[in-house]
Amino acid sequence: MATACDLATILRFDAGDPEALQVALWGCIHFLLSPVVWLWATGLTLLCVAVGALIGWWRGRWLAGVLWGTLLGPIGWVVVALQKPRPPACPRCATPNPLGRRRCPHCGLDIDAPLPPPPA
Ligand SMILES: [Zn+2]
Repeated sequence: MATACDLATILRFDAGDPEALQVALWGCIHFLLSPVVWLWATGLTLLCVAVGALIGWWRGRWLAGVLWGTLLGPIGWVVVALQKPRPPACPRCATPNPLGRRRCPHCGLDIDAPLPPPPA
């Protein structure tokens, strides 16, 4: 016999009745083992990961978005959205450049100029 696993059942629970405790526990176990609950939990987790990755991609940190979205859900989305955007990398040496610089501090490439064709 299964009962609902909700707050009303817990509040009505009679501590002096061990059989009622067993029935209440079985009700909660049935609820937690329900495939519908697991499908919802999986779907919401995947949604949190996807939205976190999207926000992270917007900030240039998609992996951080995936991790924060997975760990904290909507709170992780805010954490990622408030992070500073990753500076663009040099197209030649991939060194991150601080925002606003026109010349790579590592290799000296003019970032605004088009890349020269590779040697044949
Ligand atoms: Zn460079």
